Amino acid sequence: MSTQTSLEDVARRTAAKFDGSFLINGKLNAVGSSARIESIDPSTEEIIGSQSELSADDVGQAVDAATAALEDHRWSGQEPKAREQVLRSMADLFAKNREELIALDVIDSGKPLWQAEAEFDVCVSCWNHYSGWPTKIDGRVPQQRPGLHTQVRREPVGVCGAVIPWNAPNLMAVWKLAPALACGNPVVLKPAEQTPFGALRIGELLLEAGLPDGVVNVITGGPETGAALVGHPGVKKIAFTGSVSAARKIVEASSNNLARLTLELGGKSPTVIFEDADLERAVPAALMGGFINSGQACAAGTRVLVQKTIAKQFTEALVAACPGFPVGPAAEGQMLGPIISRDQKANILRYVSLAQSEGAHVASGGGEIDRRGFFVEPTILTNVKPKDRVAQEEIFGPVLSVIEFDTEADAIRIANDTEYGLSASVWTQQVSRAMRLTEAIRSGVIYVNTIHELDETLPFGGYGKSGVGREHGDAFIDAYTEQKSVVIRYV
Ligand code: NAD
Repeated sequence: MSTQTSLEDVARRTAAKFDGSFLINGKLNAVGSSARIESIDPSTEEIIGSQSELSADDVGQAVDAATAALEDHRWSGQEPKAREQVLRSMADLFAKNREELIALDVIDSGKPLWQAEAEFDVCVSCWNHYSGWPTKIDGRVPQQRPGLHTQVRREPVGVCGAVIPWNAPNLMAVWKLAPALACGNPVVLKPAEQTPFGALRIGELLLEAGLPDGVVNVITGGPETGAALVGHPGVKKIAFTGSVSAARKIVEASSNNLARLTLELGGKSPTVIFEDADLERAVPAALMGGFINSGQACAAGTRVLVQKTIAKQFTEALVAACPGFPVGPAAEGQMLGPIISRDQKANILRYVSLAQSEGAHVASGGGEIDRRGFFVEPTILTNVKPKDRVAQEEIFGPVLSVIEFDTEADAIRIANDTEYGLSASVWTQQVSRAMRLTEAIRSGVIYVNTIHELDETLPFGGYGKSGVGREHGDAFIDAYTEQKSVVIRYV
């Protein structure tokens, strides 16, 4: 049996088990009558299962279940060590169910097997990391005043509405659930309509780990279901990852309730290559940085800024290394998998034509791959100008735009010439130059001589249109708790 077939079997079994299901108050329900959305394997175009498109009433039930869990302190009222144990058990349960969770990521989202495995390891690390926090989130006694005891308490922010995209289904679910739970909050999680099954399985595993009913609820459906969640008055905190256009609507919806927000949005991240860079490492890093997940990654380094003195040599090396990024069905172990949908594939190809009409050259790729599934060739565009639309807009596909620069000041200006600011990668052997660029580039993450090092111990989020707030590091504590000042007179 091929890897594709065996992973498909595993994913289909789970999809069949969760057909039409959602998780509210510890119970997996299926609504026979409600509308359904089919989930498609982008590698094969086969339907792998369907989910219910939940109504505003259904969403209300999920928020009510979470509110009841908050009000009777079912989770936040437990000893921190007991909460630590539940979160730590999730790391063990993930390890036990590794094959199934990876199969769901690969078949539902088209994520290449090697990458699903790498993200799975980050998920495990995340559960372990956040399991340490319930015993460490503490209050403060800011100053000792005569006759007064003053104290700052940290309390759960309340019901969290988490809305996630399809490009890293398991990882996004864990990135939202683990920090919210570590701070004692109940959650209603809505996975993307393209990739619902991993989140449902994670919800089920949380119950197995000992999380009380109603603390995590998983609802299914598309943008309308998401809108019903973020606009619900019971939701006190919204955690969203996805597009800027959806984020704008979410900000509007949150204004009714003044819900707290963290928004992790897109990017047009620069990879800046100076003439003194170690090209043996910089070339594969620039390619992988931009092509990762077939470019369907918020932090993908899709603008490659190259110093003019080495531009020809560097571009030739990029093109020569492209065959090292073969494309194929996600389960086959290829470096790159499919695009999420037919529409998204068409959108990427439109951007390639647009680039050509703006004067760019296609140095490699540029077309679709003629096979079943939604495949686009890894594409390198040269002669791209900083203001071209392909250099400004998030394409969310495997398209690298090579832009040349003269001086360090030019590199900084072009790197910052974007409305985004999520991630940047700088390649130079000069420590002083590296230091200057880490100060000058406006971006939530800056790598020097490396790229894409996911690390939940560091804050993650963006400048400008790349988002609001930070996830992870210790920033998550502010995002998922309220502070309460207490003053007690005792004399
Ligand atoms: P999207 O933002 O439309 O969807 C992401 C999630 O938000 C899904 O769960 C969706 O159902 C939900 N949603 C959509 N509209 C909503 C609303 N008004 N209220 C509440 N929830 C809502 O993203 P998409 O359509 O899947 O992708 C479109 C583009 O978004 C991509 O081409 C890319 O540019 C960007 N994107 C970014 C990321 C990222 O990681 N930052 C991930 C996916 C997509």
